[in-house]
Amino acid sequence: MTTTTRRPTIPAAPDWTSALCAQTDPDLFFPEGHGQQIVQAVNQAKKLCADCPLRSGCLEWAVTTGQTIGVWGGLSEQELRNLHRRQILASRNTTNAHEATAVNAA
Ligand code: SF4
Repeated sequence: MTTTTRRPTIPAAPDWTSALCAQTDPDLFFPEGHGQQIVQAVNQAKKLCADCPLRSGCLEWAVTTGQTIGVWGGLSEQELRNLHRRQILASRNTTNAHEATAVNAA
């Protein structure tokens, strides 16, 4: 039996020159502080992302490359971690399903 390893295809990084975050305070997207201070910065960043022409490409790139620090593509750090976790679980389930199919076919 041959075992193959699937690696995600990493999309090319978007051209960040038209990114709205490149035209504002980058600290907004990597906030430091505590509690409400961070919540307000993240919400401001997410509002900019909502209007950013790169949003979908940014999010795809961030997820594919495992970015979990900062706001990317309109998602907070927690949202990115949750999405990353769901994708890992989905990948495992797909792998398990493929393995079960291969065992059943053998
Ligand atoms: S979606 Fe947000 S983080 Fe991504 S490039 Fe645009 S402004 Fe920056």
